[in-house]
Amino acid sequence: MSHIVTRFAPSPTGSMHIGNLRTALYAYAMSRHSEGKFILRIEDTDKKREVEGGVDSIKRILNTFNITWDEYFIQSERVAKGYYAKAAEKLISDGNAFYCQCEAKNAKDNGYSEELRDPCRDKGFTTGAIKLKVPENEVISFFDFVIDKKITWHSSKVQDATLLKSDGFPTYHLAVVVDDADMGITHVMRGHDWLPSTPIHLLVYKYLELEAPQIGHPTDILDPEGGKLSKRKGSVSVDGMIAEGYLPEAIFNFIILLGWAPKDNRELFTLKEFIEAFDPSGFQKSNPVFNREKLDWFNGHYIRQKSDEELVDLLSPFLPLDRELMKQIVPLVKERIQKLSEIKDLAAFFEEKPEVDTSLFTEKYKVHLNKATKCLESSEWSVESLTNCFIETIKSEGFKTGEFFMDLRIAMSGKRFTPPITECVVLLGRDEALARIQPFT
Ligand code: GLU
Repeated sequence: MSHIVTRFAPSPTGSMHIGNLRTALYAYAMSRHSEGKFILRIEDTDKKREVEGGVDSIKRILNTFNITWDEYFIQSERVAKGYYAKAAEKLISDGNAFYCQCEAKNAKDNGYSEELRDPCRDKGFTTGAIKLKVPENEVISFFDFVIDKKITWHSSKVQDATLLKSDGFPTYHLAVVVDDADMGITHVMRGHDWLPSTPIHLLVYKYLELEAPQIGHPTDILDPEGGKLSKRKGSVSVDGMIAEGYLPEAIFNFIILLGWAPKDNRELFTLKEFIEAFDPSGFQKSNPVFNREKLDWFNGHYIRQKSDEELVDLLSPFLPLDRELMKQIVPLVKERIQKLSEIKDLAAFFEEKPEVDTSLFTEKYKVHLNKATKCLESSEWSVESLTNCFIETIKSEGFKTGEFFMDLRIAMSGKRFTPPITECVVLLGRDEALARIQPFT
């Protein structure tokens, strides 16, 4: 591969969607693999849609995933330099664009015409918004390097899109072409939902006498329940997923494989390994399905790769326990959690005396807990001694092991699922364990 120059061009309009991060990672890997260049360009010309802190959150997320950029641009800062107006004027003077004065009448809020052929196209206005004069009867096509297919439109289906608004701000269609050309972008990668914009861009490239870059659209990520990925079963924003307890390593590994596959069947990748293995022929033609079980599997895998110390830090935001206590809990939960947030359900009872729903107990809970109390009172306070005492009790009394421990678990935690219960009892301490069991004996 020759040196590839790619860019990630997000608009600071809110929380980054997982699909956008995937696009960024593909573009990043492609340029780094070829020892080319990766550019971050903030596309903020639509000021109405911008959210406060949007740019910082984009940078923060890219940093979290170790994506670094070689150059950085903010489109709104380039407006004053006149690049977009100059390009729009060329289109006007060459007869490939026209002034439009009915922006308010025939345009949706975002400034784009709803009609394919704009009523102002042949009116000869000399001021106003500038729109593309789409040619009659032309075939527009390009080869999509991601889906590996030639895509063709007839110009009768392409819209006289607004390029420069009457306030002098470019729309996405003009700014993206001018900037991709100016910045020497060799490969443009953007989500599949941008595909309808591509014929507009191709015409603008042609009329500005610029060579169009290679363009590719990674396929849409599908929801397991059908349609495009939606929030039905959990977050689809990067921040939302992190808040749900997914590790960046797992999110990364999961999403790079949603639409791309290596030549071997390898599944586990670090960013460095992904860059090394990256090959555009690995892009998939069919839509990937967002399989949460798979994501959970990756997350569990990466949780178990962490040291106990690291996990104490990672779990604490989800359950702010005393650090020393958390250090002792971590080995008990490390093997069983899939998401960091599960710590709350598994271990909140260490700190807070639980509300116990007595209907969860087995029928024999009183006798089980009476006998358990004897062990709690008299055993040496270690997992080994308590286990021995419990097992001997179960044997001599003819209890069912599962039922005995379930009752003990519920008395201690209020829950049917906890880390290994004898270990939990030891961590709670003798006084606390006795205080918790006493109301039920
Ligand atoms: N600004 C567009 C977005 O927010 C970028 C589309 C493109 O990459 O061309 O996704």
